[in-house]
Amino acid sequence: MAQLEGRVAVVTGASRGIGRGIALELAKRGAKIVVNYNSSADAANAVVAAIQEMGGEALAVQANVAVLDDATALIKAATDAFGQVDIVVNNAGTTRDQLIMMMKEEDWDTVMDTNLKSAWNVCKAAVRGMVRKRYGRIINITSVSGIAGQAGQTNYSASKAGMIGLTKSLAREVANRNITVNAVAPGFVPTDLTADLPADLKDQLLNAIPLQRWGNVEEVAYAVAFFASDEASYITGQVLAVDGGLVMG
Ligand code: NAP
Repeated sequence: MAQLEGRVAVVTGASRGIGRGIALELAKRGAKIVVNYNSSADAANAVVAAIQEMGGEALAVQANVAVLDDATALIKAATDAFGQVDIVVNNAGTTRDQLIMMMKEEDWDTVMDTNLKSAWNVCKAAVRGMVRKRYGRIINITSVSGIAGQAGQTNYSASKAGMIGLTKSLAREVANRNITVNAVAPGFVPTDLTADLPADLKDQLLNAIPLQRWGNVEEVAYAVAFFASDEASYITGQVLAVDGGLVMG
């Protein structure tokens, strides 16, 4: 198992769902965790308590990462608490699904700010410290929807495709400072985010998955832990789909 002792990880949107799973997995491997949340303080504190129960160190930090000042304060809080930030996981995300003719401008703006601008905000705040230390691991949680598209998700798909562009450009920018930037693209994972998807769409998706089942948060977290590890030191600018084979190529 990849070991992350001595590393400090900031996981955005770690109060619930996939982010929670990532926080717990990185903690299991020895990293100190900053559990970022926006509105779910109790859930974030419960993640911190779970990490502490397994002998780890963690801190919950409220920040709306869609706002640059908040993202900057998040990285500062992590650095103040643990001395450095080695690993950043840009996981915070949301959906406002709607066909384009019905989609409101605010649905576009909210999704772009929460999913894409947030990643830029947090990277911008974290990269300086990583450059100074000549070490960093940035992992962006995109989606198969950003690779293949999905009807009703023009905003979400665009934000997730944008994260892939951000991943590749930043990977090129910081590679000579021993910082890697990769993306993980989950397929369908049951969480609060996917709970409201129409049943017929869920059936359609399930039929298209070669492994014939949904993924789980741990399976996404394992891929993130790999990119965060020293074993992945020669991998940058890549997108790894964790989707049961839904999107190949
Ligand atoms: P989720 O269960 O809805 O959890 C979303 C998390 O993001 C929560 O912890 C939430 O925090 C946080 N968040 C939302 N807006 C935020 C903001 N402005 N600032 C800080 N945190 C914010 O979603 P999920 O399914 O775990 O998804 C996690 C990531 O995986 C997302 O980027 C999503 O697009 C991606 N993804 C999910 C799936 C899937 O099938 N579930 C598939 C592909 C990709 P609070 O509760 O504190 O507000």
